Amino acid sequence: MKLEDYIANVPNYPIEGIQFKDITTLLVNGEAFKESIDKLAEFGRKVGANVVMGPDARGFIFGCPVAYALGVGFVPVRKPGKLPRKTISESYTLEYATNTLEINIDAFKKGDKVLIIDDLMATGGTVEASIKLAEKLGAKVVGVATLIELEELKGKEKIGNIPFLSLIKYDI
Ligand code: AMP
Repeated sequence: MKLEDYIANVPNYPIEGIQFKDITTLLVNGEAFKESIDKLAEFGRKVGANVVMGPDARGFIFGCPVAYALGVGFVPVRKPGKLPRKTISESYTLEYATNTLEINIDAFKKGDKVLIIDDLMATGGTVEASIKLAEKLGAKVVGVATLIELEELKGKEKIGNIPFLSLIKYDI
């Protein structure tokens, strides 16, 4: 099955010059969605993850079923102000703005082996901030997997030698 066939490319969205990869056309297809989750979960099994972490909001869509398939828990990485208890946060810079992500301060136990799942790796800023959050709590990120990778943006360079899997690769 060619998963790429189920992604819709939307030029100049949300701003001029961006080739937006719309995953909703994959989500609506049961076979393509299942195949994506099965492959991401297989990777999670291989790296020995005992917990999955996924960034707001599309990381939830892929991360939760992967956690379920592995029979492990899921840690949501949220935008500021969404988690009602004590949190830790990490900020990173985008081209024109700063983004902040948060997790619960009790999200991980020391020594947890974390698999980060997101829909797409672009510059790698989101994943890098997620890694820092997990490490602050003494967890170890044992793998990062995304449905899509925009290879030209070299996000992979931000994660060092942590094992990485992407199911669909684009030049742009
Ligand atoms: P980054 O932090 O630069 O790796 O960006 C990753 C996040 O931004 C992912 O969670 C995506 O949901 C979103 N994103 C970035 N670029 C695109 C794109 N071209 N199409 C769709 N989503 C994108």
